[in-house]
Amino acid sequence: MPYVKEVFDYLIRTSPAQTEFYQAAKEVLESIRPALDKYPKYRQHKIIERIVEPERQILFRVNWVDDNGVIQVNKGFRIEFNSALGPYKGGLRFHPSVNAGVIKFLGFEQIFKNALTGLQIGGGKGGSDFNPKGKSDNEIMRFCQAFMSELYRHIGPNTDVPAGDIGVGGREIGYMFGMYKKLANRYEGVLTGKSLKWGGSLGRTEATGYGAVYFAKYMLEDRGETLEGKRCVVSGSGNVAIYTIEKLYQLGAIPVTCSDSSGMIYDESGIDLELLKELKEQKRVRLSEYTTYKPMAKYTPVEEYPEGVNAVYSIPCFAAFPSATQNELNEKDAEILLANGCICVSEGANMPSTPEAVDLFVDAKICYGPGKAANAGGVATSQLEMQQNASMTNWTFEEVDAKLAQIMKNIYVSASTTAAEFGEPTNLVLGANIAGFRKVADAMIEQGLV
Ligand code: GLU
Repeated sequence: MPYVKEVFDYLIRTSPAQTEFYQAAKEVLESIRPALDKYPKYRQHKIIERIVEPERQILFRVNWVDDNGVIQVNKGFRIEFNSALGPYKGGLRFHPSVNAGVIKFLGFEQIFKNALTGLQIGGGKGGSDFNPKGKSDNEIMRFCQAFMSELYRHIGPNTDVPAGDIGVGGREIGYMFGMYKKLANRYEGVLTGKSLKWGGSLGRTEATGYGAVYFAKYMLEDRGETLEGKRCVVSGSGNVAIYTIEKLYQLGAIPVTCSDSSGMIYDESGIDLELLKELKEQKRVRLSEYTTYKPMAKYTPVEEYPEGVNAVYSIPCFAAFPSATQNELNEKDAEILLANGCICVSEGANMPSTPEAVDLFVDAKICYGPGKAANAGGVATSQLEMQQNASMTNWTFEEVDAKLAQIMKNIYVSASTTAAEFGEPTNLVLGANIAGFRKVADAMIEQGLV
């Protein structure tokens, strides 16, 4: 369809060097073509042209002083992409790889992900190129305060509600919340992922990982399969990976790997979850330390990965849970997974598979849950936190977990019925993109040209 190509070419011309954003936009634009054919209204209302443009992008300077008294300068970003369905909602990522294109891809994905949850949340994202690795607690606090000293004027519980992402967890949310409260002079649910002691929701920490496993469960159930007794590989060792592993154990599966940017652990008998939590949540040390406590486990540093391959995906498995970062799983990894008999991939990370890998999964008709569907449990539970804050109530862990499981089921049903409606019942990329797109596009039309 030349029309879609024109919009895409325009994007490349006007937003130079935003490769990750092009990748995310291309996937969505290509997979919604059948919906554009079916409903001429989207073209009449120039929804495609409008949806790829953020409503607002905020770029700001973050000055702070390190422990040696040296001034440091970082970039701050907040992209307010689409508010058709609710206040902008999406996490903050602190990582040296963050740039305008990365935040734009994450914000764009977030629009459709949030729409899929069926809850009232628009799409946004933000972050900084600040590297939290090796920073002292005081440095983290000073950076978070400096970051919020600008961000606070743009956000609010009914405007834009940030949360965590890579490099931003409970500690960072706490420091940012404190600074917001001081500057705005308001105690309100402006951030999610807050501590349970002051406004957080039970189950939010676990939600993204649990959700990705629930999503796999529902995909598999439809094919008469279960995760019970099955070997699974997980990448990453942050919040998403840890709670993916926890839920896999609860469902009787055997997660055998996890990784960080330096290497991967393969523990044939199953990853020691308590040890992993201690290393990553308490001690905040490198994953290589795992073998100090579990000498039988195998640690492979990244330098020893075979050329062009992520070693996590070379371990034979029934299901894979990419839970680290974008483009961590390439065509070669996908080939290896399929050759080894993997029949399920559920993405806890955002856009972890390259377009070539996605094509292989879709063509092979395995159970493939793209990130914007499979990892939506995190942001969905953030919205449950907003609901609790707004009504000044607290739900039990069981209540939140049951709601999360139901939301993941709804997302699966919505993506798979939409995929079937457009003649490709197993293609959840198409199903998720069209289902999310329709919700946002219809709301944009009904709200007029704003
Ligand atoms: N960063 C998470 C995501 O990618 C969660 C966002 C949120 O809770 O607002 O969806």
